[in-house]
Amino acid sequence: MTEPRPAGAVHVRAPGKINLSLAVGPKGEDGYHPLATVFQAVTLYEDVLAVPDEVIRVSVTGRHADRVPTDSRNLAHRAATLLAEATGIDAGVHLQITKGVPTAGGMGGGSADAAAALLACDLLWGTGLAREELGHLAAELGADVPFALTGQTAVGLGRGDALTPALARGRFHWVLAIIEDGLTTPEVFRAWDQLNSGARFAPRISDALMQALVAGDPRRLAGHLRNDLQVPAIELQPRLREVFKAFDETSALRALVSGSGPTVAALAPDHATALAIAAAVEQADVADEVLVVSGPAHGARLVESVRDSE
Ligand code: ATP
Repeated sequence: MTEPRPAGAVHVRAPGKINLSLAVGPKGEDGYHPLATVFQAVTLYEDVLAVPDEVIRVSVTGRHADRVPTDSRNLAHRAATLLAEATGIDAGVHLQITKGVPTAGGMGGGSADAAAALLACDLLWGTGLAREELGHLAAELGADVPFALTGQTAVGLGRGDALTPALARGRFHWVLAIIEDGLTTPEVFRAWDQLNSGARFAPRISDALMQALVAGDPRRLAGHLRNDLQVPAIELQPRLREVFKAFDETSALRALVSGSGPTVAALAPDHATALAIAAAVEQADVADEVLVVSGPAHGARLVESVRDSE
């Protein structure tokens, strides 16, 4: 039985992501690393219920909820505050977040909350911004937030926030190995800096990867998966070596660290094989949780809006 929804509440769902390719360039004068990345949204979601309230506040349940701040550091809280400021509205909201995406796992869970909160508050407050305007606010909140709004598969340049949709056919099946000792994105970039001091090159995406996506061919795609943050992530989280060893013993086509890690995503040839790989990795007892997901998945989307009269 589902819980009754409070009158006026808006329920929005946004996806977590994996990076099929993440090429990193040396830090620029603005302190940021130029990136060339290909995101794919997967079927692991954040649910945000926006309920009318006097003030802006956040509560969190679900996967790793105890590790997520509920004050103004929470990205969903910041998203609601930014929308209120940008539209000059004096309104409150209680954002009730149910987490499905691992926290500090390199899958953009906080970014998904921010994207979902932007859309939910826009609907709740009737501010009626166009998707493009929401996209601009999303980019102010973080490099991965615009992608959580659009979902599917997309190329991200700049800080990862200059998005172009990518053509991808069919479904790709992934096995996720989740490690609970999260890594923070800045520490992984610092480790990358140490390993690549003096590097001079511009990050780029391989044409072969884009062609494999168009063909919808997981075997071809596997050969072009790439993550420049993988080596520093493994250095910071040595448990990942055991995870890769476990995937090596299965029919996974290829495994790679997702974003800044430590989640490892392994590409399977089909859904049935993904289930068998997950069972084998579970058995090897190298990760805290093993999940099967697929991509691409939709971006932030309204699930339900409860009218006052109901
Ligand atoms: P990314 O890959 O986007 O860099 P991530 O997926 O590795 O990030 P998140 O779970 O998005 O990691 O969050 C990283 C940190 O941000 C957490 O450790 C947490 O303290 C803080 N944070 C702020 N808001 C949220 C939120 N709504 N959900 C999760 N973490 C949040």
